[in-house]
Amino acid sequence: PVVTRFAPSPTGFLHIGGARTALFNWLYARGRGGRFLLRIEDTDRARSSPEATAAILKGLSWLGLDWDGDAVSQAAQAPRHAEIAHEMLAAGTAYKCFATQEEIQAFRDAAKAEGRSTLYRSPWRDADPETHPDAPFVIRVKAPLEGETVIRDAVQGDVTIRNDQLDDMVVLRSDGTPVYMLAVVVDDHDMGVTHVIRGDDHLNNAARQLLVYRAMGWEEPVWAHIPLIHGEDGKKLSKRHGALGVEDYVAMGYPAPAMRNYLARLGWSHGDDEFFSTEDALGWFDLTGIGRAPARLDFKKLANLSGQHIAAMETPALLSGLAAWREASGEPPFNAETSSILERALPLARERAKTYPDLLDKSAFALAQRPINPDEKAAKALDDEGRSLVRGLTPHLQNVNWQRTELETAATAFATKKDVGLGKIASPLRSALAGRTATPSVFDMMVVLGREETLARLRDAAS
Ligand code: GLU
Repeated sequence: PVVTRFAPSPTGFLHIGGARTALFNWLYARGRGGRFLLRIEDTDRARSSPEATAAILKGLSWLGLDWDGDAVSQAAQAPRHAEIAHEMLAAGTAYKCFATQEEIQAFRDAAKAEGRSTLYRSPWRDADPETHPDAPFVIRVKAPLEGETVIRDAVQGDVTIRNDQLDDMVVLRSDGTPVYMLAVVVDDHDMGVTHVIRGDDHLNNAARQLLVYRAMGWEEPVWAHIPLIHGEDGKKLSKRHGALGVEDYVAMGYPAPAMRNYLARLGWSHGDDEFFSTEDALGWFDLTGIGRAPARLDFKKLANLSGQHIAAMETPALLSGLAAWREASGEPPFNAETSSILERALPLARERAKTYPDLLDKSAFALAQRPINPDEKAAKALDDEGRSLVRGLTPHLQNVNWQRTELETAATAFATKKDVGLGKIASPLRSALAGRTATPSVFDMMVVLGREETLARLRDAAS
C-alpha cells in the first residue's frame, strides 16, 4: 500500500509551495487507498514554534487535507535516530571519527593548496577500534568511494551523482544529537513511507539520504522531486510576490475546492483539464503528470477557477464556506435571518462571483434593509421621471405570478404602453430595489426578494 507524508518545518505559516506539496502527497495516497501522514520537522528548536505548527495544521485542515493518525514530532524521535546511528556503527557501515575541527580545517587547507578535492576524508574510517582514543567523536556513515549513485526520480528521471563527490556524512554529532539527514530517513522508514514527494530543493539531499538507506539495507522509497513554484514573473517565489501563505488565500475568500483545483494545476496536469473537482483529481493524479518546469503563479487563472467552483458548489456548501470566511475575518457570524436570505440570494449572486467577498457584495441587495438608501449614481435614476415610472409600474406587478419571465413580461408591456425602452424602466427599478447600479438582473432580484419586499421597496422609492 502507498504511504506518503508531508514533512513541514514549523517555522512560519503554511507556505503555498508547502500546501501544493501536501496536496500532491494527499492526492497520491488517497487516490490509491493509501495513507497520508504528517510529520513536523521541529528539530531546529530555535526556529520552530508551536504557533507555526498550529498554523500549518489549520491551513491543511482548511484545505481539507486530512492526515492519518497523529502528527509525528521529529524532535521526539531523536533517541531512535541515535539508536540507528549506533546500529550502523555496530554493522560497520558507519564509524567513529575523532577528528577535531582544527584537523578537518588543516585537511581542507592542505587539499586546497595542493589542488585536490577538499571533500573531507577521515583517517578514522579504517582505523582499528583498539586504537580509538577516549575522546569526543562523531559518527560518520561510510560512503562508497567509487562508482556512481543514481537517484531514480519519478519526475526528474535518473539523477546521477559521482560517489567521489560524496563525503562520509556525519549522522550523529559529538553531543549525541542526530543530524537532520539521518532523522528524515529514519522517520520515513519507521513511518513506512513508500513515496517521497517533495520540492526539488531537496533533490541533492536524496543522494546523502540514500547513503543511510543503503547503510541500513532499507528499501528506498520512490522519489518524486517537484519543481518549485515561481511568481507570475517567472522568478523564484519571494515576499515580493505577495500572498505566500495559504492564510492569505483564505482571507481573500477563495473556496477550498477552488484552491485544491488551482494548487493541483501548479505543476501537474491532466490533458487539457483546467477546471475539475477534487474527486476528479483523486482519480487522475499521478506522478507522470508532474511537469519538469517550474509552475508559475497565475492569479487570473485562480480567479477564473474560483468563479467556476463558486458556480458549481451546492448552495449549503457555498453558504457554510461564506460563513466560515466571514468568521475568519473577525466579523460576527450570520444570524438565522441573514442565513435564510443568503440561501435565497446565493443561486443568483454566485453567477459572476469569484470570491466570498464578491459573493457577499453580489448578495448585498438582498441583505439591504428598507428604506433603501441609494448611492449617488443610483439616486440619479430615481429622478422625477424614474420615480413616476416606478410608481406607474408597481400596481401592474401586484398580481402577476412571481416568476422571472412573467415579471419581465409585465414590465415590458408597461414600457410599451409608456412608449419607453425597457432599459429606461430597469434603471430606476434597480435603484429602488438595490440602491446601487451594479447588481444582478432586476427581475432576478425581484424573485429573490419576493413579492412583498419588492413592492414595499418600489413604494418607498416612488413616494
Ligand atoms: N522539512 C522539509 C521542508 O520543510 C521537508 C523535508 C522532506 O520533505 O523530506 O522543506
